Amino acid sequence: MTEYKTKEQKRKFYNGSDWKKKRLEIKKRDNNECQECKRQGRVTLDTNEYSEKAKRKKILLVVDHIKELEDYPELALDDDNLETLCVKCHNKKHGRVWKFVFKKNKWADDERW
Ligand SMILES: [Zn+2]
Ligand SMILES: [Zn+2]
Repeated sequence: MTEYKTKEQKRKFYNGSDWKKKRLEIKKRDNNECQECKRQGRVTLDTNEYSEKAKRKKILLVVDHIKELEDYPELALDDDNLETLCVKCHNKKHGRVWKFVFKKNKWADDERW
């Protein structure tokens, strides 16, 4: 079975065409809406609105592994284990501070953990 324990293994996964395809599918399935916001009665859409202050797009959606990739590699591409989240909710879920390093890392706009 494929494992995603190391950074390199994860990077390979997130750069792979399977994931890129799946990510689009999931976002489409979720109407490009953050599912966590939706559960709380808010609508957070992926927009192309550009914030001059932040020098980036205002809202960014990621496709999250509900059960972590590292712990459940067999669910890596399982629809039921994937949902669309906005960056805010994603940070909350993981309890981490998201550093905006999009430009340094080519793949940094993808789900990273
Ligand atoms: Zn959200
Ligand atoms: Zn995540």
